[in-house]
Amino acid sequence: MAVLAGLICGSFANVLIARLPRRESILWPGSRCPECRTPLKWYDNVPILGFLVLKGKCRTCKHPISTRYPLVELLTALLFLATMMKFGPSVSLFVRDWPLLVMLVTITFIDLDHRIIPDRLSIGGAAWGLVCSLIFPDAWPTYGWQQALLGAAAGFFGFYLVAWIYSRRSGRAGLGGGDIKLLAMLGAFFGPGGVFVTVLISSILGSVVGITWALASGEKNLLKASIPYGPFLVLGALYYYLLGDILWLPFTIPT
Ligand SMILES: [Zn+2]
Repeated sequence: MAVLAGLICGSFANVLIARLPRRESILWPGSRCPECRTPLKWYDNVPILGFLVLKGKCRTCKHPISTRYPLVELLTALLFLATMMKFGPSVSLFVRDWPLLVMLVTITFIDLDHRIIPDRLSIGGAAWGLVCSLIFPDAWPTYGWQQALLGAAAGFFGFYLVAWIYSRRSGRAGLGGGDIKLLAMLGAFFGPGGVFVTVLISSILGSVVGITWALASGEKNLLKASIPYGPFLVLGALYYYLLGDILWLPFTIPT
């Protein structure tokens, strides 16, 4: 059931990834082939299966369909499965955590595509995190609205910490305003301990990938290795969310 829900929500994430940056309606019209604009039949739109049946080509114009679509669906399904296996079914899982995972997947791919993080996701997400901290005051990873509010505030300062480390290392500002709002959103869901771990993990991963990218592309000037930082923040937060209760006990402060 978790995999099925994940595939359907991953399909919705694909719609958000394609339409939110273009400020298009996410409800109307239905999905179309990006090449010939032919509306998709409902059975071609079934997650993964539609792609496999069509052998990765549009039914009308035979234009290749990006493998990104089934990958996003599969990724969302795996995240839903992992959280279901770890935390078990609960109202907070369905109302708070799964929508959060869909937002994080969407943010990751929009940032990779366009180097932006839409405010509707980050600021809207932060607001949803604060509301959820009131509805579920005793569900991992935040315990009560105080932690959520503190986490959102810590997100801003955590951002400045990363920006400060980055600008000291590289001698230039490298983080965008979208990242600060994303980290505040993550703080609202994961509390101050989550922000600390997210900043730590994401800066390590970001450095490793950035340096590898620079070396692989033969770019001698490391300062020119420009990669979007949002996906690393998401990875850091997911790390804390899925493993933080085991590995980061000092940073989980139940009240
Ligand atoms: Zn087509």
